[in-house]
Amino acid sequence: MSEKIGFIGLGIMGRGMTHNLIKAGFDVTVWNRTLSRAVEFAEAGAHVAATPAELAARCDIIFICVSDTPDVEAVIYGDNGVLAGISAGKLVVDHSTISPKGTREMAAKINAHGAAWLDAPVSGGSEGAAKGTLSIMIGGEAANIERARPYLEAMGKNIVHVGAQGAGQMVKLVNQILVVVNMLAVSEAMLFAEAGGLDLASTIKAVEKGAAGSWMLSMRGPQVMVRDWRPGFMIDLQQKDLRLALEAAEEMGIPLIATSMISHLYRTLQKQGLGSEGNHALIKSLEHLAGMEVGKQP
Ligand code: NAP
Repeated sequence: MSEKIGFIGLGIMGRGMTHNLIKAGFDVTVWNRTLSRAVEFAEAGAHVAATPAELAARCDIIFICVSDTPDVEAVIYGDNGVLAGISAGKLVVDHSTISPKGTREMAAKINAHGAAWLDAPVSGGSEGAAKGTLSIMIGGEAANIERARPYLEAMGKNIVHVGAQGAGQMVKLVNQILVVVNMLAVSEAMLFAEAGGLDLASTIKAVEKGAAGSWMLSMRGPQVMVRDWRPGFMIDLQQKDLRLALEAAEEMGIPLIATSMISHLYRTLQKQGLGSEGNHALIKSLEHLAGMEVGKQP
């Protein structure tokens, strides 16, 4: 028999994930800080809790997907937070991308109440959340992943146990380092191609299936070519994740040279008011330095 599940945070990601849980026929309770966002879920058959504490008291498994570390902390520790409704045997699954250190601290507090914690950040964007095809990287105990698996499978396809509590968040930061360093390579290569008078579409076509191919090149390269800066993932949120990666690197005492430089390049774009553009707009910072532009207006 399926357990009673709750979902906190019905934003771009949480919205699609929760709809998929409801569609799969599970008993779902939702809570969102801005209550109006819960209406469509009540209409789809979910219960709506008045507070995270009420949701935690009513549900066996509590899924969370909010913005940043202080936001998960607010949901857990705040007045009428999850901690006020938690009891032994419950399971908290955090899908937000937040600090690995903050995660381990919160997990310890939840564990002290006899409840379990999985950090389960996701990758795949709003499209993956809506389609139920997210990649989910999970830190915590294998038995708890098995307990959550039926629900995770309603939201994602690539569900990987990567280690102990906090490891899920660490792997998500690995993902973000790969994304931005890759986007810098795509940006520099496209600028070079444009300066050389190459046709950008055939250049991408020629290289994308070989050793230089990547998701960023194939998905974002064509968007750059037509100067379409609509976000799959916004610069402001990308910067939050780079901050988390740089903080973790600082704690470990290791250098992240390219990631650090790219975070400064993104900062120049935020300074110009471009924080809500997609992370592929990174190329604009190189264009500014080179005094030229790539591609054509749509
Ligand atoms: P979003 O659309 O901005 O939604 C954020 C959600 O968090 C909203 O429900 C918001 O409530 C809630 N929230 C924020 N601060 C809160 C607080 N202090 N207390 C209570 N609720 C709070 O963001 P999103 O794109 O869904 O991202 C959610 C998480 O998934 C982030 O950690 C993000 O990095 C990660 N992620 C995003 C993507 C993506 O492509 N968007 C991909 C992978 C991972 P309100 O409705 O009241 O504002």
